[in-house]
Amino acid sequence: MGIMEKMRLDGKSIFVTGGARGIGKSVAAAFCEAGAHVAIVDVDLETARETADWLRETTGSDTMAIQADVTNPEQVNHMVAMVREKYGKLDAAFCNAGICINVAAEDMTFEQWKKVIDINLTGVFLTAQAAGKVMLEQGYGSIINTASMSAHIVNVPQPQCAYNASKAGVIQLTKSLAVEWAKRGVRVNCISPGYIGTDLTLSSETLKPLIAQWNSMAPMGRLGKPEELQSICVYLAGDTSTFTTGSDFVVDGAFTCF
Ligand code: NDP
Repeated sequence: MGIMEKMRLDGKSIFVTGGARGIGKSVAAAFCEAGAHVAIVDVDLETARETADWLRETTGSDTMAIQADVTNPEQVNHMVAMVREKYGKLDAAFCNAGICINVAAEDMTFEQWKKVIDINLTGVFLTAQAAGKVMLEQGYGSIINTASMSAHIVNVPQPQCAYNASKAGVIQLTKSLAVEWAKRGVRVNCISPGYIGTDLTLSSETLKPLIAQWNSMAPMGRLGKPEELQSICVYLAGDTSTFTTGSDFVVDGAFTCF
């Protein structure tokens, strides 16, 4: 079998949190194009349904939409049970849902801090834990978490201490799970994207005016596109990455290099 054939995900069952929009939607599309069945998981069921329907129509893959808030353990466990019930197994999980709140550290409320940490860090833990339990029982599986270049650098000029701390936590969580589960067939990696053009950046009234400034700091002079994260996730979800675990993949057009 050639390398391109080995990289396909035919018949694999995968869920994507934050899958209705942005990076999650784009990576879900790549999973479907590579042959996987994909569950689109999001707090917003209507948009998740639209995405799942669009993916089914355009790729022919079996898709489903599930409403779940990643901060709610019952909803997360129920979501994983639904995926397993429909597809009979869970090959990969993309724990990607996340938010950003830009407030100066001295003005950040306890609620704002908690919301970011709950969704970005606790949400990834709960989702990876629920997926991991199924995968450990199966003896195989690949988990991909979304961290950020903000785990490595302090982005400027916008203040985002909770976001940066949550994403740094995602990397160390990823490494911890990878080590705990390495001998039991379950791999855990994360991606650290640079600025990517999605609703999170393009539709935020706070962030939109900063794009020109970010681009002036970026070696490539531009934002990344969600599609530019697709192939690394297909690689991590599939069977050509069997020696890859506990790794963080920075995909940022060299933004963090200096
Ligand atoms: P988007 O805002 O475009 O999409 C995020 C999705 O996650 C939305 O559909 C959102 O639903 C969903 N979501 C939010 N909270 C929850 C929750 N509690 N439970 C389930 N789903 C939820 O963001 P991106 O696609 O840009 O971001 C995806 C991930 O990539 C995030 O973790 C983000 O931090 C990370 N990232 C993004 C970068 C960027 O520049 N865009 C750079 C580096 C990392 P709803 O809209 O209904 O709230």
